[in-house]
Parts: sequence; structure tokens; C-alpha cells
Amino acid sequence: CVLLWSSCIRTDSARGEFSPLKHFVVAKKKISDVFEQLLNYVKETSEFVEETCGNKALENIASQDQKLEIQAYADKLAVIKEVLARRHMKVAFFGRTSNGKSTVVNAMLRDRVLPSGIGHTTNCFLSVEGTDEDKAYLKTEGSDEEKSIKTVNQLAHALHMDESLDAGCLVRVFWPKTKCALLRDDLVLVDSPGTDVTSQLDSWIDKFCLDADVFVLVANSESTLMNTEKHFFHKVNERLSKPNIFILNNRWDASANEPEYMEDVRKQHTDRCVNFLVEELKVVDRDQAPNRIFFVSAKEVLNSRMQRAQGMPETGGALAEGFQERLKEFQNFERRFEECISQSAVKTKFEQHTIRAKQITEKVKSIMDAINIEAAEKRVAAMEDREYQMDRLEFVKNQLNLLIDDIKKKIKAISEDVASKVSSAMEEEICRLHVIVDEFTGDFHPSPQVIKIYKSELLAHVEEGMGKNLAYRCSNAVYASVQSSQGYMIESMLPLLPSAVQSQVNMLVPSRKFDLSYDLNCATLCSDFQENIEFRFSLGWSALVHRFLGSVNAQRALKMVDQNFQSSRPAMSMACTPSSGPSSMIAPPNNETALMTQEDLMVAMATNVASLTSRTSMSAVIVGGVVYRAVGWRLIAMSASLYGLLYLYERLTWTTKAKERSLKRQFVDYATEKLQLIVSFTSANCSHQVQQEMATTFARLCQQVDQTQKELEAEIRQLTAKIDQLETVQSQSKSLRHKATALERQLEEFTNQYLQHQQ
Ligand code: GDP
Repeated sequence: CVLLWSSCIRTDSARGEFSPLKHFVVAKKKISDVFEQLLNYVKETSEFVEETCGNKALENIASQDQKLEIQAYADKLAVIKEVLARRHMKVAFFGRTSNGKSTVVNAMLRDRVLPSGIGHTTNCFLSVEGTDEDKAYLKTEGSDEEKSIKTVNQLAHALHMDESLDAGCLVRVFWPKTKCALLRDDLVLVDSPGTDVTSQLDSWIDKFCLDADVFVLVANSESTLMNTEKHFFHKVNERLSKPNIFILNNRWDASANEPEYMEDVRKQHTDRCVNFLVEELKVVDRDQAPNRIFFVSAKEVLNSRMQRAQGMPETGGALAEGFQERLKEFQNFERRFEECISQSAVKTKFEQHTIRAKQITEKVKSIMDAINIEAAEKRVAAMEDREYQMDRLEFVKNQLNLLIDDIKKKIKAISEDVASKVSSAMEEEICRLHVIVDEFTGDFHPSPQVIKIYKSELLAHVEEGMGKNLAYRCSNAVYASVQSSQGYMIESMLPLLPSAVQSQVNMLVPSRKFDLSYDLNCATLCSDFQENIEFRFSLGWSALVHRFLGSVNAQRALKMVDQNFQSSRPAMSMACTPSSGPSSMIAPPNNETALMTQEDLMVAMATNVASLTSRTSMSAVIVGGVVYRAVGWRLIAMSASLYGLLYLYERLTWTTKAKERSLKRQFVDYATEKLQLIVSFTSANCSHQVQQEMATTFARLCQQVDQTQKELEAEIRQLTAKIDQLETVQSQSKSLRHKATALERQLEEFTNQYLQHQQ
């Protein structure tokens, strides 16, 4: 770059397009671009971190501190960006009053911008900077008012008249960029009141010099360098490290009057200046020092440039001796100055910010790294967790299937066991039914009303007694086996239950004690029971028929006799048939059944008679004949009286007690028969109750296992979502990290191009 600029041929006619000041302008644009990108990048990361921070599922991936740190970086970058936009190159002119500082500034600006030649006009600093507006104006310190100025004289007047201006304040002159190429390149020129007029050097330096990139000492070549001038630069040198100082020995045109001393004077000035820069200030090497010392005539340069601007000959007609050399030297100064200020300004104005940008990028990158690592670790952990939960779900499903079969078998076995237990207990109880019936002591009287109450109490007694006995025989055993089976169920299903339920597993077992209900329902079962407690002589007709024909046939026979009797007297029979009784238990026979019955009866009678005949009749007839011949009618009379006595005896002993006994006996027979019928039903009912109880517990357990499965599935879903989110965070942090690397590369390129290898 330096070579390019050095080789760049420039004439005084116009500033070349390849002005060294462009170096600063381009660098500023580049670094501003980088900062723009960096700011957007940091904002993007800030949003990302904030989002990650705010996501509850992704806790601890990005911390609040990281969020605040990045936000602080974004704020810092926004400030730097603003500062960068306002960055410009600044050159400050110092020297004693009337040395030609204003003239030098004007010569550089190629226009009479600042008033000159009127001596010490003001104690203010005057800065000249470009404005995009068409008109020139000034702003005084502490006021935003733009005071329009049309001419230099106006400015001078304004400065002179403005009594509000304090010594050492700044008046900013804004000059249209269109009028002056130098101002287009972000250059600000500051003219000082004169080092000889102030005692406030320290405050000047603090206020105007700390950000100056180049200092130009405008000396008067007609006199030697004054201590006041030197003193100022010593002070500057104390505050800034190696400030860029140029020394312009102005009014060199005056030396043309004494050409014979010119070389000596020049050498003398040069030696003193070199000595000042190299030995005293130590701001430049001895070999570089001559590049900082120039012998010029600002007045001539300004005049010639003004002339040219107005289309007139450069010299204004009168060509002074050595003008071209002095003009060239001024141009040399300008080139060296521009090279120096642009390079220096790039370094001083952008270096710190570039370093800061690199630090911020590095920090943000490391935060992205940390987030990436954290997300990766969490993702691996979540995936392992999910794997575990999926295995567990699989295990729960398989185990449940196995247990369902197992427990079903168990329930079946226990129900069958209960059925057989209850059935055998009932059988035994039915055999012992007479004991229960005998135990019953109710008020008995043969009257139908009392018998009715007696029977219902008896039924209740039997129901209660049998229930008690059955419970005594079965319930405890059944309860124990139900309990042990429930225990087995819970134990085997315990690992499949939700962890919260595992600790309170007892809640799943019904709190009430399981009790079998036998539900014999004797009252309904025996509602049809009809006792027969009428007196019946044991040798009476019906008893004998019973004896010969058996109880069933006897009933039929007696009934047939009844029927024959009734058919001969149908009306009477209709009136006398009891509404209930033993006969009502048997359905009235139709013709066919009647025929059948008659046949059956004939056969039965024939059989019984035949058997009687075959077995005893022969002997009875023989014995009867023998006895009759032997004892005769007396025996018959005695038999008849014995028969009568027997009848009498039986009739007398047929008391209420006997009737009750008979009723109980009949009831036992009847109930035994009926209860036998419901043995299998009752045992099946009990078995069903047990099955029901077990199934309920099992269903409750299954419900909990289902809950476990649902919980596991929900957890797996949650973990999958979390893994996805973590994956997104990982990829986002990775891409943001790459962006940081790209920005770092740009900053590095900027550093290499603008901040390194500069002198
Ligand atoms: P300042 O007080 O340092 O700003 O000095 P000015 O720029 O106001 O100049 C003071 C006087 O010196 C003015 O009359 C200028 O015309 C004159 N002057 C400035 N430069 C030169 C120069 O190079 N040669 C001659 N002969 N006069 C100059």
C-alpha cells in the first residue's frame, strides 16, 4: 500500500483518487461492516441464549449469567459501532501565534476557510470538518445551534464578537464536503490559539490532543524553535506514546531573500528539529526524522491554489524564487502527512476496538461451545434415559402378559378350591341338618297360624345356623387363601407398579375383610314345605297301604281312591278340595297320566301282593288255620281289643310335642332334599365371589400397571421431545460457533491488512 501510494504520481492540480486518506476510509468501512455483522451475530446469539435459558425443559444448558454476559456484549458492540461511525482522522496544528497555522490549514483545504493574518483572534480552538450540507456553519461548545457563515470575515467577526466563548473552548466549523476533497475523507483539522497565549496546556491536551492522530508544529523559519512550542510537545509526549509530529518550518519563502544563507539556515533548522524529535521527544528514529521536517510557504501554496481554483495562473503572475521547490515540499508534506495520519488513525482508532471485538467473539464462541457441550452431554444422557425407559416399558408389557396368564390360572385354581371346600362343607352341614333343627325351640301349636310363624322362625334359625356353621368351616380358610393369593399377586406385580404406588401398595388391597356370603335363602327354598301332622294310626288303612306300596305308591293309591270318590261326587269334591296341602303339590293328572297311574298301581299291588303271597301268605294261612282251630274266637276278640288298645295308645300319645317332632322330621327330610339341590349352586356362587374378589384386586393392579405404562410412554415422549430440542440447540450453537469463527477470520484479515506491518 505504502509503495503504491508513494509511486502514485500526484500533481497539485487535484487530489488524486488514490489519496492515502482512503486507507482510513476503507478501513473504517470494513471494520464498521464487521461490527455490524458482529452486532447482529451477538444479538442472534443473545436471542438464542435467552430462548434456551427460558426453556424449562432445557434447564441448566444456558445460564442466566451467560445470557446477561451476551446481552452486555451486544450493548457494548452497539456503543462501539456508534463510536466507530463517528471516528475520523484528526490533525492538530500548534505553534506560536502568526506562525501561519491558519494559512497552512487553508492551504491544505485549498480555500480560505479560517481567518488568518489578523493576529490573535480568539482563545478558542477551531476545528474544520466536512458536512454533507451545502452551506458552511459553525457550532460553539455547549450549543447545538448551527450558526451560518458565508465568508471568512464573517467567521472572524463571529469569533471576535462572541463573548460567550471561553478560552480553550472549541468552535466547530462545518465546511461543505463538496467544496473540499480533503474533508470528504473523514479528516478533521484543528487549529489552536497559539502555544504562546496559554497557560492551560494540560487542559488543552486533555481536551483536544488525546484523540489527535497527527500533530503539526507550525514553526516560523525566520526564527528558532521557541521553548514555549517545545514545552507543549513535551507535555503531549508525556500523555501520548510516540505521537506523530510533523514540523513545518513556515514562511520559508522569506529565505529566498537571502539565498546565500539558505542552506545553512535550513541545516541549522533541520538539526534542531531532528534533535528535538529524536533526542528530546524520542518520537521518531533519526533516519525517519527528515521525513517529518519540511520547509514550506503556506501563504504561497494557498495563494497559488486559490488562483488555480479561480482559473488563473498558479503564481498569481509573480513567480517567486524557489516557489516550485517549496510547493513540492508542501505537497511532500501533504503526502507524508496523509500516509501517516491514515495509517496511524487506523491503528489508534480501530486497533483497540478490533481487539475488543476479537475478545467478544472469543467469549461468545466459548459460550456457544459450552452450550454445545452441555447440550450434547444432556442429549446423550436423555437418550440413555429414554433407552432405559423403553426397555422398562418393554419389560412391563412382557411381564404383564406373563403374569396375566399366571394369575388367571391362580384365580381359577383358588376358585375351584373354594367351590370344593364349600360343597363338601355344605354336604356335611346338610347331614347335620337335624341337629340344627332339633336345636330350634320355638313356640309350637298345631293351629295353622302358629305353625306358620313357627315354620318361618325355624327357617330363619336354619338359615342362620347353617350360615354360621359354613362360615366356621370355610370362611377362615378361604380368607387366608384369598389373602395369600392377593399377596402373591401384589408381590409379583410390585416391580411393574408406578414408584409412587409401590410404597403404598397396601392401598390396593381392599380394606374390608373379604367375607363369603353363602346366601342359602332357606325361606324361598323351603317355601313350599307343607307339614302333615294329622294323627295317623300305625296299623290304619293308609299306613298299611304305605307299608305295602311304599310311600310314593301309597300316595297315588290314596289319591286315586280320593279321585274315584270325588268323580262320583264332583260338586262336593270341588267344594272340599283344599287350596293347599299335599295334593296341591302334585299336579292334577290328565286322562293319560291317570291311566298310567292306574296301571302302575296295579303292577305295584300285584308285585307287593305276590311277594307277600310268596313270602308269608302260605305260612300265615297255615298258621292262621292252626291258630284259629286251636284258640278260636277268643283269640280274635283279644286281637281286636289289642288293636283297639294300640289305637288308643297311639291316639293318646299323639301330643303337641309329637306333632312338633313330626314336623321337624318332615322338615329335615324336605330341607335336606332341597338343600341338596343347591349345593352346587351355592359352591359356584362362593367360588364366583372369590373369583370376583381376586379379579377386582388384579384389575386394580392391572390399572396401576397401565398407569406405569402410560407414565413410561409419557416420559419417553417427553424425552424424545427433549432430545429433539437438545439437538436443535446443539446444531444452533454449532452454527453460531461457526459464524463466530467466520467473524474472527474477518477480524484477523482486518488486523493483517490494516493493523500490522505498519510503521
Ligand atoms: P496563525 O496565527 O498562526 O494562524 O497565523 P496566520 O495564518 O494568521 O498568519 C499570520 C500571517 O502570516 C498572515 O498575514 C499570513 O499571510 C502570513 N503568512 C502565513 N504564512 C506565510 C508564509 O508562508 N509566508 C509569508 N510571507 N507569510 C505568511
